[in-house]
Amino acid sequence: MESHAMRAVTPVLLLSMIGSVQAQQTQNPETLTERSQASARAVLDRAIQALGGTASLRSIEAVRYHFEGQTWTRLQMPTPAAPFEADTQEQTVLLDLDNNRMRADQRDINAGVETYGTVVMNAGTTVNYNHRSRAVLPMAAALGTQQFGAHTRRLPQLLLRQALDNIGTLRHLGREDFAGKPHEVITFVTPQSEQVSVYVDAASNLVSKYELAYVDPLTGDEASEFLFGDYTSTSYASGKQLVPRTWTDRDAGATVASFRVQTEINPALTDTSFEVPHEGYASVEAPGPLEEQVEQLADGVFVLRHIAARNQHSLAVEFKDHILVVEAPGTSAGADKLIARIKTIIPGKPIRYVAITHHHGDHIGGLRSFIAEGATVITTPGNRQLITALAQAPQFDRLREQPRELKLLIIDKGKHVLSDGSRTVELLDIGPNPHARELVVAYLPQQRILFEADVFSKPYTTRPIGPVQPITASFAARVRELDLKVDRIVGVHGLSATSSEFSALTKQKL
Ligand SMILES: [Zn+2]
Repeated sequence: MESHAMRAVTPVLLLSMIGSVQAQQTQNPETLTERSQASARAVLDRAIQALGGTASLRSIEAVRYHFEGQTWTRLQMPTPAAPFEADTQEQTVLLDLDNNRMRADQRDINAGVETYGTVVMNAGTTVNYNHRSRAVLPMAAALGTQQFGAHTRRLPQLLLRQALDNIGTLRHLGREDFAGKPHEVITFVTPQSEQVSVYVDAASNLVSKYELAYVDPLTGDEASEFLFGDYTSTSYASGKQLVPRTWTDRDAGATVASFRVQTEINPALTDTSFEVPHEGYASVEAPGPLEEQVEQLADGVFVLRHIAARNQHSLAVEFKDHILVVEAPGTSAGADKLIARIKTIIPGKPIRYVAITHHHGDHIGGLRSFIAEGATVITTPGNRQLITALAQAPQFDRLREQPRELKLLIIDKGKHVLSDGSRTVELLDIGPNPHARELVVAYLPQQRILFEADVFSKPYTTRPIGPVQPITASFAARVRELDLKVDRIVGVHGLSATSSEFSALTKQKL
């Protein structure tokens, strides 16, 4: 066949074929990928020049930021909708770029939870010194690397260095107006597979912001934007650098953090810069792997752990002709897995109700799969709009493929009781709590079990938890007020605890 085909090609045709190949080679038309990379490279070069050139960028060996300001973490505020009361955050971050060392001293309040600690990454290990609980906690190496990368991007010079170090992934997305000015937008991919878009002001060539794409539980595909503002010149031993004095973080178009920042280039470093005094602190072992687990708490009462998502648990209660689930964490895919598991432990009954404890993203992320399943969502009055929006969110999941109308059951006057005569679950709004104004617990009076979210999480390893968090004190006070008889507290996060374990850890009576 081959020789026949060869014979069929006449000398003239063969000649013209060779000619067209030569023409293609001489024209050397670049592919879109090549052109995109070349123009991105030109934008990057201009941005680097605007910050003093490559040598100036490479002269940065270490950096210290001190920043403080307000935060409004998306889907993590005490209320589901604005106006939000701002949380606060203050951090000092030291990065030793040559030796991959990081120290971050942090104090913040987030939805009623106070954090005061120091994270140190040094010689490949990452440790969290928790100054509230006086404990030293090991952290996953990947988390340290991720934080180091994120902090590095917060200085435009180092952001551009990240782009240079991953030059093969550089592409030009195009030109777009941002803050009323034309910008060139280029993108690169980090070794951790994060795709970062960089907005370079077409006139000043300064970096105005960078973006990362993420999937928002409410609005689907979104960008997380990090804005640099108020550039000023700062001196250091090798000369001067232009650094931003404000940082603004936006998720899905909403401002989630606003900081004033002071930046020090090449601060003096010693080995003690990364040492944290921790005399008398408890040394805590890393918990083992958090494996999927189903525990039967009582007849017809189950807690399903780490199935929808890691460190997220749901309660399933079997009634005569249906099932109640409390908590729909994770994502639609995670919830699909959870629903399948519930059907194997309680076969042949429909999930008629799904109750959520509060409106935070990690507690409602799987709700759409329960809606697709036909379950009625039980929640408090303040969450009506949010849940309605979630049901209509542009997400690629089962509810999109098999649309189903949202059925809502709003808890009236802080209490809704489900009972089939032999088994009873009381859904009680124990808010207002500093964590969430409306916060529901599931109370099983016969079994003396209380299922709660976030107000108390027993750690996976034995360790002190420090001064009681205001959210836990408020919870304990409400349980006493409502005179709930509790033997066992089962958390959405962490391990379950007896009431005496709860009291020993928190110094709170129930
Ligand atoms: Zn929460």
